[in-house]
Amino acid sequence: MSTVEKRYAHVTYAWDAQRAAKMNGLQTLIFRSNLLGDDGRITNTGGGNTSSKLLETDPLTGEQVEVLWVKGSGGDLRTSTAENFSSLYMSKLVDLQQIYAAAPARGAKTPIEDKMVSYYPHCTFNLNPRASSIDTPLHAFVPWKHVDHTHPNSVISVAATRRSEQLTREIYGDEIAWTPWMRPGFELGLTLQRLWEKQPQLKGVILGQHGLLNGAHDQYECYELSLDLIDKAARFIEARDRGDQTFGGQKYQSLDESKRNAILEQLLPWLRGELSRQQRMVGTLQTDATMLRFVNSQDAPRLAELGTSCPDHFLRTKIKPMYVPWNPQSGDFAGLKQLILSGLEQYRKDYAAYYERCKHADSPAMRGADPTVILIPGIGMIAWGKTKSESRVTAEFYNCAVEVMRGAEAIDEYIALPEQEAFDIEYWLLEEAKLKRMPPEKPYARRVVMVVGAGSGIGKEVAHRFANEGAHVVCADLDPKAAQQTADITS
Ligand SMILES: [Zn+2]
Repeated sequence: MSTVEKRYAHVTYAWDAQRAAKMNGLQTLIFRSNLLGDDGRITNTGGGNTSSKLLETDPLTGEQVEVLWVKGSGGDLRTSTAENFSSLYMSKLVDLQQIYAAAPARGAKTPIEDKMVSYYPHCTFNLNPRASSIDTPLHAFVPWKHVDHTHPNSVISVAATRRSEQLTREIYGDEIAWTPWMRPGFELGLTLQRLWEKQPQLKGVILGQHGLLNGAHDQYECYELSLDLIDKAARFIEARDRGDQTFGGQKYQSLDESKRNAILEQLLPWLRGELSRQQRMVGTLQTDATMLRFVNSQDAPRLAELGTSCPDHFLRTKIKPMYVPWNPQSGDFAGLKQLILSGLEQYRKDYAAYYERCKHADSPAMRGADPTVILIPGIGMIAWGKTKSESRVTAEFYNCAVEVMRGAEAIDEYIALPEQEAFDIEYWLLEEAKLKRMPPEKPYARRVVMVVGAGSGIGKEVAHRFANEGAHVVCADLDPKAAQQTADITS
């Protein structure tokens, strides 16, 4: 382990200087992005974006021009390739500020802010078809050549506390600024620009209840700075970790594995039915010690009710999970079912009331009111999504949320995003447009199909066919090896 690696206790240092030395600017940006995305403590699946301002040859004039390469809409930093980055003329992006300034009403959530997104394609360099992210101005209008925007659990813990601003100063001094929550967009980009005009020494900013943005003029320095800042927050939290008293200490004990499995065998098919009344859902079960420490704790009902903070998290986890107030030591299965049924009824009512309270005249219609995260003391968490992989992402995001709450409660008091702000993200017209652009679901999407005799012949063909039509296929065969082979091809 090199001395640099040893410096970090809570993030993985993976820079390879020899490899990087052979890369051009764009290749180094992709390398940096993949490394950041590879560590779940640095950013969540699909979360965050990176950029570099590079000199490129203009295809029309042959002149050298400054181009912003910034991770575009969709995709994941860990697996990003050149195709995931949009490329935009910096001079044109800066000129957009005049259009924005001429609008009669400006600011986050004004009509001009959403309209600005439609101007980004006009700034495209070299016909790059990748759609630009709404975070583009956050990268364009800060002075560094290279910028990382991440959603690290440790930093969001700081960003989601009551004393977030003071804690930022305590941890980072005057090198890192703090801004209150603001929905990402043109106004937030200009806010950051103003911050740097006033304090040119700044290296980064904590975006309240959202994440981290930092930069440098050198790619390696930018990467190292991201790791430094994230690790620093994690160390600050670690020094104040509450140990046994995390989440107020344990109220319940976990069920032993055989007892838990006996309940789950009956519970899961029934629960899937209850949650699939509007649309079929697929679940991911998590019963590890970390999740159980949260669901078994004294504070779980209070914290679950507060909901998640980072916008990326609650788009999947919904504004809050459903906590089932079941006592695993004294309760029985019939009682658990009853509590889930009454909990679901209450959750749907609460969700509809939240929609009614927060909706605007032009808001899209209410979407499904069922929870996507269910927490059961003694048992664990069941997360839901339209596919197996989506339910895994939901689970990942609630794990992030638990980790954020652990950190925030260790150093101060956790606060969630205000309800109206959460709603304005969840029902943002741009978000709705993204949902509408998604390809239609395949005929057997959301279904789980078991094929007996899937190892060969007709069974194998049927398994492939169902998988191609969007089903999740369970392959069974007298020859388990053959079944596994079919499964390996279909998955
Ligand atoms: Zn973000």
